[in-house]
Formats: sequence, structure tokens, C-alpha cells
Amino acid sequence: MSNPFEVSERKSVPPAEAFALLGNELRVSILLELGDAKEGNQPRPLPFEELRRRCDVSDSGRFNYHLQELLGVFVTEKSEGYGLLYPGVILYQAIKADSFTDRTTVEPFPVDSACSACGADLEATYRNSMLVVRCGDCEALAFKYHLPPGAIRSNDPDAVLRAASVYARRDLVTVASDVCPTCASEMYHDVVPEDEKSTDLEHAMPGPAVVHHCSYCKNFFSTDLPEVLVYHPDVLPFVAANAPHLLTDLLWTADACDPDAISVTRRDPLRVSVPLDADGERLTVTVDRSLDVVETERH
Ligand SMILES: [Zn+2]
Ligand SMILES: [Zn+2]
Repeated sequence: MSNPFEVSERKSVPPAEAFALLGNELRVSILLELGDAKEGNQPRPLPFEELRRRCDVSDSGRFNYHLQELLGVFVTEKSEGYGLLYPGVILYQAIKADSFTDRTTVEPFPVDSACSACGADLEATYRNSMLVVRCGDCEALAFKYHLPPGAIRSNDPDAVLRAASVYARRDLVTVASDVCPTCASEMYHDVVPEDEKSTDLEHAMPGPAVVHHCSYCKNFFSTDLPEVLVYHPDVLPFVAANAPHLLTDLLWTADACDPDAISVTRRDPLRVSVPLDADGERLTVTVDRSLDVVETERH
């Protein structure tokens, strides 16, 4: 039987070659001009002469040399003119968003929530593109995730915290469906019971953690088990119907489940039961070591 999904060609440009192309100011300005060129909201291809004028280069031979170097990797040529290929678009957006160049640091600022461990006030910091929320008193970690510097452009701390929560939640939704939020390849999970957690799994919440990893782009991070489980396709409908606030509250305030109520019901193979209570209803979700839901029981 023939496979209806067939990749006609798998090829890639060596990374060092692609990045070496960018070590030139004119080439970067070609990418920026092509990205800036719009017709309404649509990208507008730029004819050679217009692109050269926009880059402010009088030597057409020198300009053409640099433009040709980018062709096929970051730039494409069509009958109407030059435009960006997908890698060019990603690069353009990364440059515009200051992803490689921002060094913003924000000193600890107050967060309007209490530490789940000791009840003291939480505070947040932003450093190396990482937003961290922890207890100002016992230092328990409540939230830690990378956040692009665009979120910090707002001088409103509540807006920054909201953006961090929304941004991380978007990735939780993706990860819970086994898709890597960075490269869209398959995401794998390791459920780690409380007593198997190593010290490098830094989590404020007691109870099982989950390590998520992508074998393609090597993306890697960990969450608490209930935190990601509420977005699992087998669980999300229950949560949306009975506890919708878990899907909208700031992540460090949304407690899906008392960690003490989570139980390891079997060791080999591992089975972990997580009771989710909402609105007088209970859904007990049992997962295996790879975060597959093996059983759900409604009470
Ligand atoms: Zn605390
Ligand atoms: Zn990936």
C-alpha cells in the first residue's frame, strides 16, 4: 500500500553556512528591508532597484553580490521581486523582537499573590530573558520560564506578569498534546514521582514533576504534573466545563490539585493518580511514566 504522505525531499543547509551568511551589515539590512515591505498586511516583493535604493547602496554590483548570497537560504526571488523565505521571516522577527540583542534586567518587583509554601508575598525578577516568580521570604519557586523581551516593553508590571502566564500556558497546551512548542516535532515526557526527583528539579510544589523533552531541537523543561495534565486532551473538556478558572488564572495562582492527594498507585510500571476536584465533581486521572492517560474515572 502506498503512503499518501510522502516527503519529496529532505535536505538542509549546514547551520554554520547559514549563519556565516549573516556576518555583514548590508545583508542584515536587506533582510530588514524585505521584512518591512508591506502591502496592507501582506508582504510585498521588492524589485531589485527598489530594494537597492532602500538599502542605500549605490554600487549595484556589490549590492547584487550580497543579495545573491542570501538567495535560497533566507531570500527568494519571484517575478515581482525579492521576498523572505520562512527562515528569513523568523530571523527578521527575531531581530525586530530583540531576541538576540536584548539584555534587559528587572529588579525584584511585587507580585499580588501569596507563596503556597509559607504564605508570604511573591516577587518577580527578569534577567537573561527569564521571568522568575518566587517567594520573597522562603524563596520557594512559583514560576520560571523564558519570556521574550517584547513583554517587558510594557511598564505595567501586571501586564508583564499576565504576558508571562499566557505565554507559558500556550506552551503547556502544546506540550500536553505531545507537540514541541519550539520546533513542532514530537515532545516526550518523563513523569517523576516525588521520591525520585533529583535536586536539579527545582520546584516549589511538592508532588510529581514531569520532564518534557524534544529529541529533535533538544528543547527541555519541567513542570508539575497537575499543571500540565489539565491541558491533556482527555482532561481538558472536564476542566473547561467544571473549573474554567484553571485555564485563565495566572499560572502561579491556579492550583489544580492538592499535591498531597496525588498518589503513586503502582511502581512498575508506574501509575500515578491525580484527583481533580471542581464544582463538586471529581475526575481521577491515572497516567503512566510517559504521561499517557491510562484511565479516567468520574465521581
Ligand atoms: Zn514562601
Ligand atoms: Zn523541538
